[in-house]
Amino acid sequence: MSGQTAPAQPGASISVDVPAKINPHLGVGDPRADGYHALSTVYQAISLHDTVTAERRGEPGIAITVSGEGAGTLPTGEENLAHKAAKLVALYAGIEPDVRLHLNKRIPVAGGLAGGSADAAGTLVACARLWQVEIGDAELHRLAAGLGSDVPFCLKGGTAIGAGRGEELTPVQAKGTWHWVVATTDTQISTPECYKEVDRLREDGIGRYSSDVDPIVRAFEGGAGAEELARLLINDMEAAAVSLRPQLASLMHGGLEEGALAAHVSGSGPTVLFLATDVKHAVALARRIRMRGGAKSVHLARGPVNGPAA
Ligand code: ATP
Repeated sequence: MSGQTAPAQPGASISVDVPAKINPHLGVGDPRADGYHALSTVYQAISLHDTVTAERRGEPGIAITVSGEGAGTLPTGEENLAHKAAKLVALYAGIEPDVRLHLNKRIPVAGGLAGGSADAAGTLVACARLWQVEIGDAELHRLAAGLGSDVPFCLKGGTAIGAGRGEELTPVQAKGTWHWVVATTDTQISTPECYKEVDRLREDGIGRYSSDVDPIVRAFEGGAGAEELARLLINDMEAAAVSLRPQLASLMHGGLEEGALAAHVSGSGPTVLFLATDVKHAVALARRIRMRGGAKSVHLARGPVNGPAA
């Protein structure tokens, strides 16, 4: 780092909306030598989003405030992924960071929706704009991948195949919009905890690697209806998430009884996604799931939507 501060722009502030991700297909392979599991996934960004605001602070340092989901429980220091992202942009540019970041969170924390990764992606984009740092696409992707496996996708949004540990992206041109009801629960599951349970179940012969993403990719590219998509949703972490939090099973069954086309655990859970036929069906379904109880909060979301660097 050169120790210089970025060009002064008193009062300048940039706000970036950054979507949550879901994995309509999540195939989990064996752990690799580096400890990460091999993934064969299809990501989709949905309209449920956080807003990252970056403002010049007028003095060196990175300050973070949080409102909404997780406010008061999330770290606001160096462990926050947004802090790491801001530091990385400053390091890349060779400047001293001076930024106040505000995270207005709607994405549930530790819910399998990549909320932390979304904030990191939003911060990369917001800080680069605030400090007027030119970062090419490939470099931005490299910085993002260094922050976490889901961060590169959170930058781009849309729909994409993820290979490697999720960071090797191939865009998918999805033709259409699909409607979801997103039901959060009052528990959290850490991603490492869920991977451990996947491994444990596999030792007992439960579950296998769903490596073939072609059927669902073709469905997205061909503009499949929700009924067809419902039959193609796969999550190799679902059994592990339900094993860790058995209450998910009754939430899922409840949503199906209320008319959802499918109930799908989001990533490592414990958020449950219910697929609806169209927006009207999603509104009615959300109301029925709310009235039934068992979910902490119930949101409407559609996908795909663009990420902040699309
Ligand atoms: P993923 O699906 O990518 O594994 P997740 O959606 O299950 O992630 P996150 O919301 O990203 O989970 O949170 C995971 C952990 O990351 C939390 O326990 C939290 O303490 C930490 N964390 C750090 N920074 C953030 C942030 N800005 N927002 C949310 N969590 C954060």
